[in-house]
Amino acid sequence: MVKVELRSVTRNYGVQLEETALKEDKGRPALENIQMTIEHGEIISIVGPSGCGKSTLLKVIAGLEFADKGQVLFNDYDVTRIEPQHRGVGMVFQDYALYPTMKGKGNLAYYFEVHQRTEEEMQQRTKEVADIMGVGFDLLIGQRTDTLSGGEQQRVAIGRCIVRDPYVFLMDEPISNLDAKLRERTRMEIKKMLRKFKVTTVYVTHDQQEAIFMGDRIAVMRKGKLEQFGTFDDLYYTPANLFVATFIGTPPMSIISAQVSGNTLRVEDATWELPPDLAATVAGRTSVRLGMRAEGWDVGNGATMPVRFMDRIPTEQAAFAHGNLNGTSVTVILPLDAPNTHQIHVTPRWDAAYLFDANDETALHTPGIPDLF
Ligand code: ADP
Repeated sequence: MVKVELRSVTRNYGVQLEETALKEDKGRPALENIQMTIEHGEIISIVGPSGCGKSTLLKVIAGLEFADKGQVLFNDYDVTRIEPQHRGVGMVFQDYALYPTMKGKGNLAYYFEVHQRTEEEMQQRTKEVADIMGVGFDLLIGQRTDTLSGGEQQRVAIGRCIVRDPYVFLMDEPISNLDAKLRERTRMEIKKMLRKFKVTTVYVTHDQQEAIFMGDRIAVMRKGKLEQFGTFDDLYYTPANLFVATFIGTPPMSIISAQVSGNTLRVEDATWELPPDLAATVAGRTSVRLGMRAEGWDVGNGATMPVRFMDRIPTEQAAFAHGNLNGTSVTVILPLDAPNTHQIHVTPRWDAAYLFDANDETALHTPGIPDLF
């Protein structure tokens, strides 16, 4: 198993970025000063909007791109300038890279042939992978890859990668081409396999739910920068800023502009007195952004919130009331059997409230991870 460390990694595509990038992104590096350590056998997800640098980060770890500044270390060994074929990384991308005329089994065995491994060794690991990939995988690897469906090809590609026993396993949106049902099944298979073989893994996705499911920790990126790297609980309860706060969690956190006056916050027709610690946090400010998750409200009195529609989710035993406060969308969780209504009255539960700077959007206050975890 390998520990992967990125030290102040910057990658700038320079002129080329000028041609492809959005206007406001011109000249910015694809990766800027990335600092992260991925522990032995840890699975991490990298998530963020398109163009934020996820693939570039993966390529820098693989050696397909080199950092302009900073270092990449595997177990404290500097691999920054080492070519990909000497790094011992396994990669699976969105478009599968199988050798089309070989049977699936040939794909798995190819590595052993070129590396002159023994027949027994090949049989043994191929069997181990097939065991994990479960019922049906044996059949898949006996077929020519161009006769396999997209999902089947991707499963073979992942199997082939694991058979090679990589130091680090890198996956870039490996299942985003599959339909929803197959995606769910395949991501469970992948996770099972990674747990079994304990390979240090970096998993890139733009899908928040998938990132949460796959990763022991999640790295949230934006515009070439690492905004935050932590467990789901870290990101959910202690987001570093408004971007991370609204990126993680379903339904997304509601962000409401609030006026500060002394130790009170004003929103719509409500003036809420703040508890002393929050009053101290906002002292000297005239406005803040109040972040509230759907489950963070007391319902019954407080600000008048017009309700646009209600969404009942029986599996969550909840109804979501969607409305507006101070011109922004707000979602409030209600009991599943709450009657339909055109307005509700809401007050934040202060132990569940988040406060952000009105200008730079950094977190001023977060609830912290509850003791019960
Ligand atoms: P993501 O994987 O998050 O969508 P990428 O790492 O692919 O993001 O891209 C990050 C930024 O670098 C984007 O602005 C993209 O246009 C630019 N970029 C990526 N690859 C190249 C390249 N080969 N040449 C020039 N610019 C690139």
